[in-house]
Amino acid sequence: MASTACKRLSAQSPSGASVLRGSSLSHLKRVGPDKDAPPLSVLPTGLLCRSLVASAVTSTPWLLTPAISFLSYICRPRRPFLLDVRRNRALAWLMKQTVYKQFCAGETLAETRATMGRMRDMGFRGTIITLATETVFDHGKNRVHGLGVESGADKRAAICPAIASWRKRILEAVEILSEGDQLAVKITGAGPLVTEALAAGELLPLQMLDALDEISTRCKAQKAHMLIDAESQLYQLGILRAGLELMQKYNRDGHTVIYNTYQAYLKSTPASLAEQLAAALDGGFTLGLKLVRGAYLATDKRSLMHDSKQDTDDAYNAIALGALRQCLLGFGGTDEGARPFPSVRLILASHNRESVLAAHKLHTQRLEQGLKTVPVVFAQLQGMSDSLSFGLLRLGGAPEVYKCSTWGSLDECLGYLARRAAENRDAASRTRDEYAVLKAEAWRRLRRVFATGR
Ligand SMILES: Cc1cc2nc3c(=O)[nH]c(=O)nc-3n(C[C@H](O)[C@H](O)[C@H](O)COP(=O)(O)OP(=O)(O)OC[C@H]3O[C@@H](n4cnc5c(N)ncnc54)[C@H](O)[C@@H]3O)c2cc1C
Repeated sequence: MASTACKRLSAQSPSGASVLRGSSLSHLKRVGPDKDAPPLSVLPTGLLCRSLVASAVTSTPWLLTPAISFLSYICRPRRPFLLDVRRNRALAWLMKQTVYKQFCAGETLAETRATMGRMRDMGFRGTIITLATETVFDHGKNRVHGLGVESGADKRAAICPAIASWRKRILEAVEILSEGDQLAVKITGAGPLVTEALAAGELLPLQMLDALDEISTRCKAQKAHMLIDAESQLYQLGILRAGLELMQKYNRDGHTVIYNTYQAYLKSTPASLAEQLAAALDGGFTLGLKLVRGAYLATDKRSLMHDSKQDTDDAYNAIALGALRQCLLGFGGTDEGARPFPSVRLILASHNRESVLAAHKLHTQRLEQGLKTVPVVFAQLQGMSDSLSFGLLRLGGAPEVYKCSTWGSLDECLGYLARRAAENRDAASRTRDEYAVLKAEAWRRLRRVFATGR
C-alpha cells in the first residue's frame, strides 16, 4: 500500500510531489494513532489560530513587506518611544502575544521549559534551544550589529563581562534540557572580544575557550548535543575552526556531543567540509554535520554565495544525499583515489519539503537494503513548516524530528524575528502552501464542530 501519509505530505507542495514522482512509496508507512487525520490535527487549536494569522501575513506580499520594514526598524538601537519594545509596554505586549510566541520559546528559562514540554507533547523527539544574542556583520553597510550582546571589550581586564554573562546564561539553559533536547549556540553572542578574534582569524580568548569546554562537558554529562550555529561570513571560518577543535575532543568513544553547521549557499562549503571530513578521518573522531542552506543572504557578501536558489538547492541536496550514501567530496564510494568515509552523524535542518523527503526516502531505502548510511535526524524552526514536521513524524522509519526554538528577551529576539520574516518573503510558494494547509485544517475542525456539536 502506497503511504497515504507520504502522499499527503508531498501533495501539499508541487515541489514535494516532483521528488517522489515515479518512485515507489512503499518504504514509507504511516505510523501514529489516528492514521486518517491530517498531520496538523495534532496542533492545539490556539496554536493553529496563531499560525493561521502568522501564515496569512507571511503569504500575502502587501502585508509582509510592511511587516518586514516594521521589524527591521524596531531592531535599531535608537528608536522613538512608540517603537521601542523596552519602553512601550503596549507594543511589547502585542509583539509578545503575536509574533514572539509564534516563533520564540520564551523570555525566561521557565517559559522556555514550558514551550519545550508542549513540543514533546506534540510528538517531537525534543527541542533544540538557542539563545538569541548574536553579532551580525552587514557586509553592504560595513557595520557590526550586536543583537542583545553586551558591549565592552577591555582586552586588559582579567574577566570579560560579556563572555561571563553569555557563559552563565548558556550553562543555565543546559540545566533545563531533558533527554532528547539539544543546545544550539551562537558563538558571536559572547561579545566583541570573541567577534574580533573570529574576524581576525585569531585564537578565541582563553576565557571563551574555557566556557566552550565547560558547556561541552555539561552537554556530554546531560547526553545532549551542542550544535554550533553558522553565522555571518566574517566570523564563520573561525566558528568552524572552533567547532572542529571541540569535535576532536568530545566526539570520541561513541559520543557525538558537538555538531558544526555548514551553509550550503556558500561556494566555499564543499572545500571546508572536505577539510573537516579529512580531519575526522585522520583524527578518528565523529563529524557532527548539521546542514542548513544559510540565513544571512541579506547581509553577507553576495559573491560568496551561489548565484541562484537552484544552485543552493543542488548544493544542499548533493551534501545531504552524498552523506547518506557515504559518498561525498572524495570520501567513500568506489572512485579511484577515494578515501574511506569517516564517522558522520547528520542533522538536516530545513523546511524544504523536497530536500527533506528525498533524504528521508534515501535513508529508509538504504536501511531496508542493508546498504551503508549515516544516522540522520530532521529539524525545523518553531512556528515554521509545521505540516512538514508533523508529516515527517508519521512516516515509516520513525524519523527523529526536532523543533528548534530561540529564547531570550523580546528585544534580543527582534533581529531573529526580522530574519525569519525576510526568509518567508523569499520562500513565497512555501508560505502559500503552508497557509493553504493551515486553512484546510481550520475548516476541517469547523466542519467537525458543526457536524458533531463539539
Ligand atoms: C533547525 C534549523 C537550524 C538552523 N540553523 C542555522 C544556522 O545555524 N545558521 C544559518 O545560517 N542558518 C540556519 N538555519 C536557517 C537556514 O539556513 C535557512 O535560512 C532556512 O532554513 C531556509 O532554508 P530551507 O532549507 O528551509 O529551504 P528554502 O526555504 O527552500 O530555502 C531558502 C534558502 O535558500 C537560499 N536562497 C534563497 N534565495 C537564494 C538565491 N537567490 N541564491 C542563493 N541562495 C538562495 C537561502 O539560504 C535561503 O535561506 C536553520 C534552520 C533550521 C530549520
